[in-house]
Amino acid sequence: MKKSKSEVVFISTPGAFGNLIPLVEFAQLLVNHDPRFHATILIITMPQRPVINTYIESRAAASATSINFLHLPIVDPPAEDEHQSSIAYLSLLIQKNKPHVRHALHDLKSSVESNPVAFFVDMFCTSMIDVANELEIPCYMFFPSPATFLNFMFHIPVLDAKISGEWGDLDAELTIPGFVNSVPPLVLPTALLNKKGDAYACYLTHTARYKQPKGIVVNTFKELEPHALSSLAISDVPRIHAIGPVVDFNGPAHWQSPDHYESVVKWLDDQPLLSVVLLCFGSMGSLGAPQVREIAFGLERVGFRFLWALREPPKSNVYLPSDPANADKALPDGFLKQTSKSGLVCGWVPQVKILAHQAIGGFVSHCGWNSILESLWYGVPIAMWPIYAEQQMSAFEMVKELGLAVEIRVDYREGSKIVLAEEVEKSIKSLMDVDRVVRSRVKDMSEMSRMALMENGSAYQALEGLIEELAPKI
Ligand code: UDP
Repeated sequence: MKKSKSEVVFISTPGAFGNLIPLVEFAQLLVNHDPRFHATILIITMPQRPVINTYIESRAAASATSINFLHLPIVDPPAEDEHQSSIAYLSLLIQKNKPHVRHALHDLKSSVESNPVAFFVDMFCTSMIDVANELEIPCYMFFPSPATFLNFMFHIPVLDAKISGEWGDLDAELTIPGFVNSVPPLVLPTALLNKKGDAYACYLTHTARYKQPKGIVVNTFKELEPHALSSLAISDVPRIHAIGPVVDFNGPAHWQSPDHYESVVKWLDDQPLLSVVLLCFGSMGSLGAPQVREIAFGLERVGFRFLWALREPPKSNVYLPSDPANADKALPDGFLKQTSKSGLVCGWVPQVKILAHQAIGGFVSHCGWNSILESLWYGVPIAMWPIYAEQQMSAFEMVKELGLAVEIRVDYREGSKIVLAEEVEKSIKSLMDVDRVVRSRVKDMSEMSRMALMENGSAYQALEGLIEELAPKI
């Protein structure tokens, strides 16, 4: 008997909003585009990050029956002595879930209704490729980061074989496929700047498997990263599908009390057009007390209106930052009072909705790829302040390769020399005032991002090509 649904199954790196949100939106795009599909998203719960579950609950309610979020049984976390870095912790946690994933996929395969046509694993779930192979389900990768970074991931084993010392000690810049310019070693991810660390080994293990999936879906679009995508197209890598930008336009903060968000929007409604700079450092970004003070002094000096999603560092990196219990205490004496007419310190807000507001004129961002795509969508220029993961490379790409952003410091990372108030002042001034070239390029890219998704746009066509591969129409 022919099964009625083509089931597409997904698994994301646990506890990571930046990976999960675009994966869920991609699943939604697929089922909306072609009703033959039904999606199941396997969830590895990370009890230390309960806010992710709240997001999933609200997102599940919004997607009604088209997506099934299936929570895998909770496994014992990796032991303390098994890992040093968070990527090693997550990779082990993912591996421990293999039996549960096997079981879930097996159940789906045996069901009378659905026929699993693809299993999408995300960038750090490569151990799940084995499960797909065992069960003979075509395996694909979902890559939530830029195409430049995907080129780099493919190139990691080559660099590892070529560079004998530490990558950060190299005098020369690196030639990396997908980048027009040579790349300074100090914009590479922190994980790769210490060969002895377990994060370095993790990157090697994952990237060694990147050629195994049948195809890779990347959350980007041709008009944004033409060079990086052409470079992948002529390489010996799986077929690339650039189906982006996929953005959660409701924002991941569905769960937040509407009062909080509404009071922020009410404040924005009273501000002039393009007058406010938004400062937000992602779901995992927080800065130490001395850096927070310099930002505050910089904001006072530059005098632009601001909305600042200030967050406090977590007690360990297994947890996420939280809104400060007492913002007044975290900031220089009298700052909140002195800036009460021109600024608002707000903690977590649904960023995408804020970026859509007409009062926002610029964005100081940690350069997470979702944040970049959201900002481009709404034509808001960004000043790049990377903190972790691939963000330094994305900052380099946006500033040097694409001319779509203003630089604060592209090689900033946790533990870096502090960005002084003068630097904050200068960059915000350039972002809001001076750099009209960047603003107009961002506006053009905003239009292109919308066109990419329209019928016969580049991303639309890429999606149709993928669908034809997953479930050919007879
Ligand atoms: N986000 C938000 N409010 C915040 C911080 C983050 O809505 O205060 C959202 C943001 O809009 C984006 C996601 O969380 O959709 C973060 O993803 P990104 O790739 O930008 O960075 P990550 O958090 O993965 O570093």
